[in-house]
Amino acid sequence: MSKPDIKPPPLRNDCFALPAGVNWTPVDDALALLRDRLSVVTAVETVPLAQATGRVLASDIHANRSNPPLPNTAVDGYGFAGAVSGGPQIMPLQQGRAAAGIPFDGQVAPGHALRVLTGAALPDGVDTVILEEDVTVQDGHIAFHGPLKQGANTRQAGEDVVAGDLVLPAGRKLTPADLALLSATGLADIPVRKTLRVAVLSTGDELVEPGQAAGPGQIYDANRPMLLSMMARMGFAPVDMGRVADDRDVLRDCLNAAAGQADVILTSGGASAGDEDHVSALLRQAGAMQEWRIALKPGRPLALGMWNGTPVFGLPGNPVAALVCTLIFARPALGLMAGEGWRNPQGFDLPAAFEKRKKPGRREYLRARVRDGQAEVFASEGSGRISGLSWAEGLVEIEDGARHIKPGDRVRFIPYGSFGL
Ligand code: AMP
Ligand code: MG
Repeated sequence: MSKPDIKPPPLRNDCFALPAGVNWTPVDDALALLRDRLSVVTAVETVPLAQATGRVLASDIHANRSNPPLPNTAVDGYGFAGAVSGGPQIMPLQQGRAAAGIPFDGQVAPGHALRVLTGAALPDGVDTVILEEDVTVQDGHIAFHGPLKQGANTRQAGEDVVAGDLVLPAGRKLTPADLALLSATGLADIPVRKTLRVAVLSTGDELVEPGQAAGPGQIYDANRPMLLSMMARMGFAPVDMGRVADDRDVLRDCLNAAAGQADVILTSGGASAGDEDHVSALLRQAGAMQEWRIALKPGRPLALGMWNGTPVFGLPGNPVAALVCTLIFARPALGLMAGEGWRNPQGFDLPAAFEKRKKPGRREYLRARVRDGQAEVFASEGSGRISGLSWAEGLVEIEDGARHIKPGDRVRFIPYGSFGL
């Protein structure tokens, strides 16, 4: 049977161009909008200091106590009233000693020295310490060479932190060193934000769970394990909502459940405007959907909406775009909702180990890593290449305008770590 002579539609001249007449929002404008529209959503609780790592301070914290609380000696040695002039010095040694936590409760007589150990509060009559290695002790006296400035080898009370000082600001995500600072300044119960709960769900009829048998047309769900672990690494509480087929009723139930259990919902897949793009369709039906056409590669429209009062980030299904959109848009937005304030990821300008020509009109993020002080990019920019995500250790950000990068030119590298991964 002969086939009808039907011509396929011609390739459009502009098939690779950005749609004409459509406003593509620059990345910075999109970020400014998120920053402007979102605010902290988490409540406050108090936790013991030892459990506060990674938590977000709910208020400014002021020192209860100075550090050090008293003037003390920075070394093991002998203390006396300084200063001491140049040349050989001999001083009678007074009976007793001062050690850390065990003060000397007497007066050191003028011209006399007392044995002092690191961390000991300076006794009355002592403001200067000579290092024990620089001293000869004999016949109840010490001998050493001057000169020595008044205050040598001592620490002043409050030289680190003065009681009442601001030690850490609200929004600070507490580090191990912060715990040392809080403890040293007399704080034990720390007001923090409750951890932001982030629901993660995948959509698509083609998806199967890792470990299950997969039919020829099926693929394993790559986004959900990635997004759940990203949320955990960033210090949020991931809530696994599983996979949902391209079925509007099932997806509606899942969104309802997610809104009941989490502060934010991340979906991947189904966020465009196609027949099977049920995330955007449901959000649109709910009347609270914005399709953000962001001038960014890799990335498709980001569907942002509210579901029963819970913000939904409808990420692209493509794993590369899902990761980039999560890092660039969701990360700072989630941080803001979690009480961290808006934080821009810190990048570094490094010489490029590659060449690339880029047209104007959108910002690009390349999967990248640093070797020998140079930024390398993954061989393929294909947005389905999950291996490149794993190969990379960060992103190279190329500004919105045109650029021809040659090897050795400076490019901005943002390590995954800067996003909290
Ligand atoms: P979508 O945004 O639903 O049109 O999906 C875009 C592409 O990403 C399709 O090739 C999907 O099969 C793929 N995709 C969607 N979700 C996932 C997922 N969870 N893991 C891996 N690939 C996905
Ligand atoms: Mg899909």
